[in-house]
Amino acid sequence: MNASIPTLVPQADPGAAYRAQQPAIDAAVARAMASGWYILGKEGAAFEAEYAAWTGPGQHAVGCANGTDAIALILRGMGIGAGATVATVSHTAVATVAAIEMAGATPLLLDIDPDHFTMDPDELIAVLEDPPPGLPPIRAVIPVHIYGQMTELGPMLEACRKAGVALIEDVSQAHGASLDGARAGTLGDAAAYSLYPTKNLGALGDAGVLTTPDADLAARIAALRQYGWKERYISDLIGVNSRLDELQAAILRVRLPLLDAANARRQEIAAAYDSALEGGPYQAPARRDGYGHVFHQYVLRVPERAALMARLRGIGVATGIHYPVPVHLQGAYRDRVAMGPAGCVETEAAAHEVMSLPMFPELTDSQVETVCAALRSLAE
Ligand SMILES: *Cc1c(COP(=O)(O)O)cnc(C)c1O
Repeated sequence: MNASIPTLVPQADPGAAYRAQQPAIDAAVARAMASGWYILGKEGAAFEAEYAAWTGPGQHAVGCANGTDAIALILRGMGIGAGATVATVSHTAVATVAAIEMAGATPLLLDIDPDHFTMDPDELIAVLEDPPPGLPPIRAVIPVHIYGQMTELGPMLEACRKAGVALIEDVSQAHGASLDGARAGTLGDAAAYSLYPTKNLGALGDAGVLTTPDADLAARIAALRQYGWKERYISDLIGVNSRLDELQAAILRVRLPLLDAANARRQEIAAAYDSALEGGPYQAPARRDGYGHVFHQYVLRVPERAALMARLRGIGVATGIHYPVPVHLQGAYRDRVAMGPAGCVETEAAAHEVMSLPMFPELTDSQVETVCAALRSLAE
């Protein structure tokens, strides 16, 4: 045995991506700085066009300040606010639920399928057919494609179409995930993407983007994100300020062409973890047939989580918890926010057990091997 203290493998490392891409990013930053135009300019417009084309044919993209705003802007653009309920999950970044309330709507939190951690389609179908009493009518559903794998959208789309309810995808953890070859974000009525630095596509600061096949909706949201202006200084709509700056757009234009390769590297790391888990006490993350998983996180269910996290840390492997407390149990929402008939039981169970291994494309082969050796040691 080597007696030296093992090198820590971080759970995430946004600085590593910058170091790997530094010449191209520095050049893009210099170009944006020298342009003399810093907000909603050529870089932003080019990023929107490139992002729309990357997601799929017929899509329109609108850049904004962050992923939370992207969700709220879509709702506002659709006219969904006070007097409407929006169904989503409690097992998500709190941002999803915060955005619904920012738009003035009432959130309804549904439970997850415990194998994939995504919205349970049967509970959604049940609440669309028989809405919980005392809530405004359900006008939209926001499934969250969590950890890099898409929600089981087929039955949800069908139920939403039948009920006349909008389906908005939260793709903040799944840029490049797919279902039967179609990219996440292209199947619903609109999609929101955070571009926070640690996401699969991340800026070097706050940024967000949204996509929709509806050109009128995209144009309305483009006005809403800047004071409701269609013409400079004249507000036709009641808007907000949620713009994308040129610096972030220029950085994102460097990164977008690298995203598919970065996702492939995440999949390669996931496959290495899968093999290292074989024969051990923990199951590799479940994948659905026909779905492309882009491993924003590689998440295990571990009943004795605290002990295992401490043991891994002792051998140099950092882990994370996404997320430790479901939204409906957090102080700002507890005893106030509505839940579906399932009562988020699976969500609460998952919150006690989920543990995320190190996962980012710049992990070196030797760091991946350190994690794999640690996982293999759990079988002994
Ligand atoms: C990160 C994230 C968001 C929020 O994005 P911000 O850019 O931080 O506002 C929303 N939903 C999910 C699922 C996320 O992971």
